[in-house]
This record gives sequence, structure tokens and C-alpha cells, in this order.
Amino acid sequence: MSAHISTIAGVTVDTRHWIGGERVASAETFTDVSPIDGSTLGEIARGTATEAAAAVAAAKAAFPGWASTPRTERARLLHAVADGVEKRLEELSIVETSDNGALLRSHRRGVMPRVAHNFRFFADWLLKLEHEDFDTRGHTNSVSWDPAGPCVLITPWNAPLMLATWKIAPALAAGNTVVLKPAEWSPLTASLLADIAAEAGLPPGVFNVVQGYGSEIGDALTSHPDVRRISFTGSVPTARRIAVSAAANLTPLSLELGGKSPLLVFADADLDLAVDLAVEQYDNAGQVCLAATRILVEESLAQEFTRRFVAKAAALRQGDPREEATDIGPTIHPRQLDKIDGFVRRAIEAGARVVVGGHRGDGQYYTPTLLTDVTQDSEIVQEEVFGPVLTLQTFATEDEAIRLANNTRFGLAATVATGDHERAERVTAQLVAGTVWVNCFFVRDLQAPFGGSRHSGVGREGGTWSFDFYCDVKNTVTAPKGWKDHG
Ligand code: NAD
Repeated sequence: MSAHISTIAGVTVDTRHWIGGERVASAETFTDVSPIDGSTLGEIARGTATEAAAAVAAAKAAFPGWASTPRTERARLLHAVADGVEKRLEELSIVETSDNGALLRSHRRGVMPRVAHNFRFFADWLLKLEHEDFDTRGHTNSVSWDPAGPCVLITPWNAPLMLATWKIAPALAAGNTVVLKPAEWSPLTASLLADIAAEAGLPPGVFNVVQGYGSEIGDALTSHPDVRRISFTGSVPTARRIAVSAAANLTPLSLELGGKSPLLVFADADLDLAVDLAVEQYDNAGQVCLAATRILVEESLAQEFTRRFVAKAAALRQGDPREEATDIGPTIHPRQLDKIDGFVRRAIEAGARVVVGGHRGDGQYYTPTLLTDVTQDSEIVQEEVFGPVLTLQTFATEDEAIRLANNTRFGLAATVATGDHERAERVTAQLVAGTVWVNCFFVRDLQAPFGGSRHSGVGREGGTWSFDFYCDVKNTVTAPKGWKDHG
């Protein structure tokens, strides 16, 4: 077995970059460790500016051929990638779970089917993409979505392949070529996707993967003059660095960032539903950008809500994410665990009361936590923890609920639990968020716009919004036959 090959639960993963249709090694590697038990999963190529430049060059060379490939053929190839994902669904699921610790059952039943759907959806959307011509004094305006060029896509570890393919699929459908830089804490499924794309028949250089630490390889990708789009999902501090780096070439950016989203529970809500929505926020050990981590409950309901929440949270089973019965797996990395615990310790020092959890579990696990007696301006209410930590605050009036909900620097999502339709309309109209759910959570359709307001992001992707971002949108104005401008 070569040094570049890892075998994870019987699945073979090549840990080198994928550039121009070939596996490329780096002089150095870094160790990828499983959050489940700390076992080594592989030695991953540690990319540098050299490999970044090679990947962008490969994407640039492949661009003219891919951009001029007929839409129907691009769509056919993307469906072939989806077929490959479905064929290897079990392998992708076990490797992803081993790498990032999210539940195997979620990967099997939700995430990986969604990965395949990402390719199918954008392939089909491409074929439907059109704008009706319109007339200006006899002149015809025709809008087209022209491929932009090589795109750099940078993704986080909490839902690696899901978030990557939500960018890769529209970027490729649009006729662009791609360089993907997956997160260093979860690099493996990106490598499997390279195999799948090659088997599906994507031409060399159309899809490339470079591995490595963002701090070492990131700038070389984001400041490259041949890169035409950068789509990034990750944290606010990294987004700032990327924005500075991209500024050199004014490269257009799409930024999907963090959140501190509220769940507003009004006294007229279905209480069981509201409690279920609140407990759901522990999914993926709370490492979900959209998680509604600030629970805001109307005063009159707070005691009963808390009683039922505590009972439900106590029933959650924390443990090995490969086991069917597990509800919550480990946190991704010892550093993330320390970060989460640091937030909780400082909150307690500042006067927060622990209602549930509030401490580390075994290994890399953090107990699902609920804190109350927190003030609006405190760190625990204002900053994203990215772990299984929720706060509970109460409100007396609708206005106060909205004020608390909007009072952070984020604006990714918000969830409202109410039985009053008119209240729902009034409240949702005033919430600052890219996505608002009423009496539901995490219902997402690929044709819907997705993104964040304020520090939660810049721009929207999804459906036509994705094509707007990944393309140079062009308007062509054609004069009627025999027309002369007399001025
Ligand atoms: P991160 O910002 O640390 O890393 C994200 C990616 O950026 C990684 O691939 C990393 O290697 C890369 N990177 C790091 N430094 C870079 C640089 N200087 N140049 C280019 N790339 C660089 O984020 P993370 O810890 O991996 O992810 C967690 C964050 O992501 C949370 O804030 C979460 O809310 C956010 N997130 C947002 C969404 C969304 O859709 N809005 C979805 C998932 C996660």
C-alpha cells in the first residue's frame, strides 16, 4: 500500500491533490484524525502556492473546452456524477462520518442523497435557464449567462461534501472550471468526489482538488489573477482575509458565513413543536451554521417550555456516530472542544445558569448545554459557539422579541414558533435574516435563495441566484433589420 493511499472502513482514498486529471503529491503531508476515536485516517498532501498555481492553471486550460461544451452535454455529465455519488453512497457516508463525526444515518439517508441531488438539480436548472427577450423601441434585449472562468471554492468541515457540491454543481453547470479547497479537518470525501467525477467522464482540469491548510495555500488561490469567482463557506475572520486577498483582482466573492440565529417561541405556539424545534438545534453536535442557538421564549410559557426541553434533552443519546441509535456525535477537533468549553466557562463566570449540560463529556464529546440568565450584550449571546450550546432568554412583548432576535451582528436565519398567522407575517417581515422558518426548521429547496445578512454573508446562491453569481450575465441589444440611428 502506498503512502498516498488510506483505507477507511474498507474504502480506498487517495490523499493527494487532484490536478488536471492526475494525482499530485506535495513535499509534505499533514495528519487527518478521526473525531470519533482519535485514530489516524491518513497523511494528506499539504498544498503550497505551487500546487495552488498548478490547479488554477489546469482549470484555466480546461475552461475553453468546458465552457463551449453544449449545455445538454454538461448536464448529462453532471447527472453521471450524481449516478456515481449514488453508487458510492455507502462509501461516501462512512468516510464522511469517520472524518467529521456527523451521524452515519444522516449521511446515508439525508446528506449523500442530497449531494447527488445537488448535481441533478443544477444540471436540470441549467437546461431551464432563460430570460424572456424584451423590446426597447423595436430593439431586442437578450439576456445570457456566460461562463465566467476558473472558480475557487473553499469549504468548511461541518458538512464537507454537502456544502462543497452545493457550489461545485452550479459552477460546473454554468460552464466554469473548479478548484476546490476542502477543510483540513475533513479532506477525504473531496478526494473521493474527484474519482467519481473522473469516472463520470468530466474532462481533465474541469474539476480539481487541492488539499492543505487554508493559512498556507489560501492566499495563493484567492489572489490569483486567473480566478474569476471565489465562493467561500466558513468563518467571519477567514472571510475578511479572503476579501482582502481577492481585492487585488476585484474577484467577485460569495461568502456564506456564521450565525447566531434566534428561535422565537410565542405563547400561542404549539408547545411540543416548539420544544422539538429547540432540541433539534443540537444536531451535528451544534456544528451547524443555521442552528437557532438563541431560544427566545415568551415569559408566560418559559417555565413549562424549559421543563419539557430538559426532559427531551435528557433523552438524547450521545456516542459513536456510526451507531444507528446515536443522536449526537463528537465535536470535530480538540481545538473546537476547547473553544466550546471556553465559551461556556466564561458565560458561567459572567453569571449564566446551567440548565442542561455545561461540561465536557468523554473524549471529544461536549454535553448538550442550555444556559439561562444571560444578558443580551454578553459574549455567549453575541458570538457563534459552533457547538451544542444554546441560550434561553425570555421576552414580554412581540416588539421585545424582535428587538432581541435582531440584536447581534449576524443575520443568517431565524425560526418563529407561533399559532397566529398574522403574527407570523408581522414578525417575519421585521427579522433580519437570509432564511426565516415559521413552525419548521431546515426545510431547504435548491431553487430558493440562500445566504446571510450582515456578518452572516455576502450574496445569495441557489437556483438562478447561483447562475447569476457563477456567470457573467450579459445583455445583448439587437437593432431591428434596416434600422439606422439618426440620433
Ligand atoms: P474556517 O473559516 O476556519 O475555514 C473554512 C475554510 O477556509 C477551510 O477550508 C479553511 O482551510 C479555509 N481557510 C482558512 N484560512 C484561509 C485563508 N486565509 N484563505 C483561504 N482559505 C482559508 O471555518 P470552519 O471552522 O471550517 O467552519 C466553521 C464556520 O463556517 C462557522 O462560522 C460556520 O457558521 C460557518 N459555516 C457557514 C455556513 C453557511 O452556509 N453560511 C455553512 C457551514 C459553516
